[in-house]
Amino acid sequence: MSRRVLVIGGGASGLAAAIAAAEQGAAVTVLERLPRVGKKILLTGNGRCNLGHEELKPAHYHGRYPHFADILADFDTKAFFRRLGLYTRTDSEGRMYPMSGMAASVLDALRFYAEQCGVQMLCGMQVTALKREGRIWRVSCGERSFSADAVIAAAGGDAAPSCGTDGNLFAVLRAAGCRVTERKPALCPVPTDPALVKPLKGLRVRARASAVVGGKPVRSETGEVQFTEQALSGICMFNLSRIAAFNGKKAQISLNLLPEYTEQEAREILRGLCKQRGALPAAELLSGLLPKRIGETWVKAACGTANAPAGELLRDAAQQERLLALLLDRRFPVTGQASFAQAQVTAGGVQNLDPQLAVIGQRGLYVCGEAVDLDGDCGGYNLAWAWSSGARAGRAAAGCK
Ligand SMILES: Cc1cc2nc3c(=O)[nH]c(=O)nc-3n(C[C@H](O)[C@H](O)[C@H](O)COP(=O)(O)OP(=O)(O)OC[C@H]3O[C@@H](n4cnc5c(N)ncnc54)[C@H](O)[C@@H]3O)c2cc1C
Repeated sequence: MSRRVLVIGGGASGLAAAIAAAEQGAAVTVLERLPRVGKKILLTGNGRCNLGHEELKPAHYHGRYPHFADILADFDTKAFFRRLGLYTRTDSEGRMYPMSGMAASVLDALRFYAEQCGVQMLCGMQVTALKREGRIWRVSCGERSFSADAVIAAAGGDAAPSCGTDGNLFAVLRAAGCRVTERKPALCPVPTDPALVKPLKGLRVRARASAVVGGKPVRSETGEVQFTEQALSGICMFNLSRIAAFNGKKAQISLNLLPEYTEQEAREILRGLCKQRGALPAAELLSGLLPKRIGETWVKAACGTANAPAGELLRDAAQQERLLALLLDRRFPVTGQASFAQAQVTAGGVQNLDPQLAVIGQRGLYVCGEAVDLDGDCGGYNLAWAWSSGARAGRAAAGCK
């Protein structure tokens, strides 16, 4: 008789796990709480699904699961999807997308292939309990119960609860012997003092953004920063958000609005502008470098006002140095954390997993995808982890290491 494998969650990692287990000959059933599988996949990459990255450098991953690099290296995203009849295209930054440019075609490819392999997908089934009886696992979905030789928990994390992922399975997993670390929203805006950002709402600027903890920069990202009513946003802020979430008010964000220049070059540019534009209102001093409202706000922060000729406000070197310091390192306090509804992924999760993603000490129970204490940066790193960890857990659960 084939080995019976139950997969909890029909998202990215659950579908990859189901396919891998079925390819090894297991009888696989996916239990999905929503009326259909893969809802989140449809939203990824703004509907285009950034399904992987050419170079999966370990530095793009964070968390406490130590075996992730080996799992990523063991999996070929392009070859996996070709086997499913889906071709990919890679952009100039190494991000992989389906050739169709549509997330729906990724979900279709997974569903069609899973069906071809005989995977049974049961929707509207929320797993509420998990229990081992000898060599068998019993899984309850309210009144209904299922039994299996192995169970793969692929129910995601807490991010984007409208996609079925609200962290509900972690309590069940804890009761079944999983060690679950503290979870925080990641890949999300960083809340800051509204008085600093509200006047700039809607503006975008290229900057080097650094997360500063205990006065020291711990990570920097260069790219577009967006100002919202209460937060700093944009891809580079998303990549810093897990540091902000874990460190809370101990953290600050520093913005350098002239990342292309050395400090000395920036000083010379500023001196030159003070001469060239000395007769203009100070609000115009930086409008050849930055969006006008941003330049004006920085001048106000340095000089207290921008309602005077630039040459008057910035006539001495000390005032110019004050503005220069703010242009290169303006600090924004972290005032809290974004909600999971604003986050794309969860930082933190299940930690006590062996290299096959089996829960240590709980024979036949596996965890994969975002439920693991591992999260990636923006750029296809999280889906790459979902497919590769799903495939690893699926093969192992089917009895094939
Ligand atoms: C808006 C958005 C855009 C994103 N874009 C990208 C991108 O372009 N590239 C990228 O790499 N990553 C992206 N991500 C992140 C990526 O989608 C996730 O990391 C990935 O989907 C995680 O896969 P998973 O299988 O672990 O969980 P999910 O895909 O979240 O699937 C988990 C499934 O489990 C189900 N479930 C939950 N609890 C239960 C239960 N008790 N019983 C049964 N079923 C349950 C859920 O309904 C859900 O269908 C994005 C995320 C969001 C929110």
